[in-house]
Amino acid sequence: MGNTFKFCPLCKYSLRRNKVDGRERSICRKCGWIDYKNPLPVVVCAAINDRGKILITKRNLEPGYNKWALPGGFVETKETPEKACLRELKEETGVKGQINRLTGVYVQKTKEYGSILIIGYVVRASDESIFLNGELKEAIFVNREDIPHIPFLTHRKIIEEAYKKM
Ligand SMILES: [Zn+2]
Repeated sequence: MGNTFKFCPLCKYSLRRNKVDGRERSICRKCGWIDYKNPLPVVVCAAINDRGKILITKRNLEPGYNKWALPGGFVETKETPEKACLRELKEETGVKGQINRLTGVYVQKTKEYGSILIIGYVVRASDESIFLNGELKEAIFVNREDIPHIPFLTHRKIIEEAYKKM
């Protein structure tokens, strides 16, 4: 569940468990570095075209290999979540669009990355030309009633929220 440090990554001194603001954490007694273990931020994109069809993708990577999902990925350092959302959409599927609105912020547990913080957006797709990169097997625009099963609960919540205000 995420990295566990034994030694301080800054000064190499060994870490000790200690309470910090009421929570047990690993801290460095030499330089004061604290291993916070915050969730990684991930953006997930409900890209909808002007006919109300939504872009869904079949993953070519874990987690969720060969499963249907919404496009998305990790927010990079110094990147806004909105930019990350449009970048991931374009990188993975070739589709371009504009941010319409935030659907919400969610927490999900994963085997690979521990707890992740998911930020969901509705994107209006403006250029629907699909070019897949290696992370995906397939990407298609479908009507809401034709969406295949998506095993990620958070993605299903984002889809539901996206169709509330159309
Ligand atoms: Zn240190």
